[in-house]
Amino acid sequence: MTVRIAVDMDRCQGYRQCCLAVPQVFRLGEGKVKYRAEAEDELLPAIEAAAASCPTKAISVESGTL
Ligand code: SF4
Repeated sequence: MTVRIAVDMDRCQGYRQCCLAVPQVFRLGEGKVKYRAEAEDELLPAIEAAAASCPTKAISVESGTL
């Protein structure tokens, strides 16, 4: 299974919480986050925590067989 990640760039304000929480997936680009759209299942808890901690709730996460 794979984790799918999406960030709403209209909402992202570059607060970097996600980059600090899961640097394997999120990196700060020029004012906005850059990220991998898919990640390994083992990273799901960390990615969910990053999504919960995003001040603008810009991150959505899906996991499982779609
Ligand atoms: S925590 Fe949210 S607002 Fe901050 S860089 Fe990540 S997606 Fe953007």
